[in-house]
Amino acid sequence: MQNAQPTASHFINGAYVEDTEGAPIECIYPATGKVIATLHEATPAIIDQALSAAHAGQKIWAAMTGTERGRILRRAADIIRDRNRELSILETLDTGKPLQETLVADATSGADALEYFGGLAATLTGEHIQLGQDWVYTIREPLGVCVGIGAWNYPTQIACWKGAPALACGNSMVFKPSETTPLCALKVAEILHEAGLPAGVYNVVQGRGAVGASLVTDPRVAKVSLTGSVPTGRKVYAAAAERMKHVTMELGGKSPLIVFEDADIDNAVSGAILGNFYSSGQVCSNGTRVFVQKDIKAAFLKRLKERLQGAVMGDPLDEATNFGPMVSADQMNIVLGYINKGTDEGATLVAGGKMAERDGFFIEPTVFADVTDDMTIAREEIFGPVMAVFDFDTEEEVMARANDTEFGLAAGVFTNDLTRAHRVVAGFEAGTCYINTYNLAPVEAPFGGSKASGVGRENSKEAINHYTEVKTVYVAMTPVEAQF
Ligand code: NAD
Repeated sequence: MQNAQPTASHFINGAYVEDTEGAPIECIYPATGKVIATLHEATPAIIDQALSAAHAGQKIWAAMTGTERGRILRRAADIIRDRNRELSILETLDTGKPLQETLVADATSGADALEYFGGLAATLTGEHIQLGQDWVYTIREPLGVCVGIGAWNYPTQIACWKGAPALACGNSMVFKPSETTPLCALKVAEILHEAGLPAGVYNVVQGRGAVGASLVTDPRVAKVSLTGSVPTGRKVYAAAAERMKHVTMELGGKSPLIVFEDADIDNAVSGAILGNFYSSGQVCSNGTRVFVQKDIKAAFLKRLKERLQGAVMGDPLDEATNFGPMVSADQMNIVLGYINKGTDEGATLVAGGKMAERDGFFIEPTVFADVTDDMTIAREEIFGPVMAVFDFDTEEEVMARANDTEFGLAAGVFTNDLTRAHRVVAGFEAGTCYINTYNLAPVEAPFGGSKASGVGRENSKEAINHYTEVKTVYVAMTPVEAQF
């Protein structure tokens, strides 16, 4: 097995830094439950060092042209692609996700973000507004030091999705990975510096929630971008509001996926599988509430059960494996708790429902049918491989039920009726919608949530607005006309 122990816990000012005074963080390989690396939480001294480096580095970085900044980001993307296999293995060790997945979805997605925002860096401009003889011009300025805080499901991708737009705009970043998956962001920092990034522009510090909280409240920080759960989002948003900081909140979901009777059933089943069992269900935008029109319910469940036979649970490093473990014992227990609640509250268990009989934190792909809207598994985000199938009769009824949630991250519809597809999507209260597919998140498209699922958008040109501020300059060409 590839050695997972990093050179040191943190990456600050262009170099690995260790401080063993910080509480230990054990990195556990979810497929075996064994410790594969031990790191240390950032002490106040480390946090201060990272923020000072980011503060100084940002000035140097912002003084470079967009073309120069973009070139470095694109070079980092090339290095990531060259090392995709090694980085994908590390992602698998960090998260337990199958190598079959990580080879195509993690480092590659990070490289896409660096390439895309690297390409945009030179195009960021203000505008000119003529007002008779006078005129206004605007300057698009970076915000300064940005803090990125990550969840554990996509450690490489999150480090890049936050870092790439922040850096393209001339900001610096201090990134804190989830304490569950501390490894991958260090590699992103290392590669960015290898590509020519000035020291201090992208730093990584490890730690649990308290380290995140000290970063968020530091006066040197201009912006916070969090990927995490809604309860954490509420805390971080409130702390940032105290000093009127910019925020991007990428939070949880309980997204609806509606399958109408005229849909291609096999395609809809594919969408439901992708939207519930990829990354063993640990995807924020998953369509975990699958509403199936009554007439096709039996056919849908039959096909779904057949297709579940294709799940290959096993060593995530074996490329034949397509279904991995939960990220941690804690997450496994949370998910098992929800499965028990589903059964207790009267849903019909159609498939799965148990831990797998092997080492590590594996839970079988689980499907409940006859789920009703008031059940716990219908209302709360589970973040594991648990699909809930609901019946519905009419479009009007299903739209009201689909939107009856505090979340609004994603939503999908499967139908062959063109006008219905667009009407349904227009009615969804969700930030990211899908027609006849699910869960695709290309860097060119905005991604993010409505309602409690978040604030702001990642990816696409939209992200630029969340990492820059516009300065307005009024230029007078005639004498001032004062009132007296
Ligand atoms: P979490 O909310 O427990 O933790 C997220 C991060 O916040 C971690 O790095 C954690 O250390 C940090 N944190 C915790 N308390 C903090 C505080 N008070 N101040 C600052 N930082 C703090 O989430 P998780 O369990 O790591 O991840 C799963 C959650 O993330 C799910 O709800 C999932 O839907 C969500 N998620 C959302 C997206 C998205 O793009 N919308 C993507 C992936 C995951």
